[in-house]
Amino acid sequence: MTEPAHARHPAELRALVRVLLRWFGHNARNLPWRRTRDPYAIWIAEVMLQQTRVSTVQSYWERWMRELPDLPSLARAHPRRLRKLWEGLGYYRRLDHLRSAARLILEQHAGRFPHTYDEILKLPGIGPYTAGAIASAAFNLPTPVVDGNVARVLSRFRGRPLTARSADSWALATRLVQIAARCMPVALLPLAEPGRPGTAPLCPPCSALNQALMELGATICLPHNPRCTDCPLRSRCLHARQGGADPGRATRRSPAEPRRLVACLVRSHGHWLLHQRSTGVNRGYWELPVFELPSDRPPSGHFPTDPESWFEFEPSPTQGPPTIVHHITRFRYHVEIRAARLKRPWPPGHWLTPRQLQNRPLSRLTTKILHHWTSTAGATAKHPEHDPAPHKRHASEGPTLLK
Ligand code: SF4
Repeated sequence: MTEPAHARHPAELRALVRVLLRWFGHNARNLPWRRTRDPYAIWIAEVMLQQTRVSTVQSYWERWMRELPDLPSLARAHPRRLRKLWEGLGYYRRLDHLRSAARLILEQHAGRFPHTYDEILKLPGIGPYTAGAIASAAFNLPTPVVDGNVARVLSRFRGRPLTARSADSWALATRLVQIAARCMPVALLPLAEPGRPGTAPLCPPCSALNQALMELGATICLPHNPRCTDCPLRSRCLHARQGGADPGRATRRSPAEPRRLVACLVRSHGHWLLHQRSTGVNRGYWELPVFELPSDRPPSGHFPTDPESWFEFEPSPTQGPPTIVHHITRFRYHVEIRAARLKRPWPPGHWLTPRQLQNRPLSRLTTKILHHWTSTAGATAKHPEHDPAPHKRHASEGPTLLK
């Protein structure tokens, strides 16, 4: 089937833009950053949303905006405070970029967030997608955004395999957002106070168009089961007209490689053994001792091996040790959580009280392990106590994260 005329003709593209804007006005999810046009607030949301689900980001964004409401507060913030605010979001290099960019804006732009796409793109850690999202949302510039969700919508709509890197995806998104620039702002009705549609915040049309495409990809045009019957594009979409045959992907992800880890929970007199990463993506974050279990493949390089030379494990419960699944890059880790004793002093280790544990920035995996442990039978299991003679202990004990 050839590409339909409505995918090419200006009148049809205008109609498509109108449909998208109307649909977004009635279906936008009620997200807190959709109530602001402050470029700083939008920037923080966009960076948090990279690689992270919307539902996860909301509470992080609200806490961040309460504690660091503007560029100067971010530029002044201590790295440890930033890490704590970001704890659990992963991809921690984003934090370094945020702080560097805030300082650069204060020094080179007199504290005013850059107003053009090219200037925004020059900030550390900002690529074309994020620059386009900020420029359209904060300044209503007709800058396109194409991520995996948008590319999937455009690909199916046109019946051609397009990706977030295809020039064709960006060209079509550009045409659409340029048309939207001539439209009226869109009232976001789901964000209005109950029973008072007049209180709906107005979204600039370039931002509304970009967000409509993203929203459609995230909520309707799903990767495996697109909900075409609920889609405003169904009468114009080639994918829907072809009966759901995907145009295919230019690249397919290879399946995640399974690996096994063991995480060691070592406690002594109410203190827990952790260490602070000095290199890598988790630099500055605190972690439990975690080891990769031997397999017939070479280790992945993320974790050391040979836990038995350092730790003696307590017998596992009859149903086996608690286990969680954690993804890092292309690896899918099955992590056994084991209570253990130290056989000999562990060089990079520190003994932390529960209060210190709560206040230090923890790696995503460690946070996950501790949450799992505290919410399962592991928390009530008998845990070994032993004397870590070489280590200094702290006098104070706060509320217990782990009991
Ligand atoms: S009609 Fe179906 S395939 Fe086409 S854009 Fe909508 S949800 Fe996606």
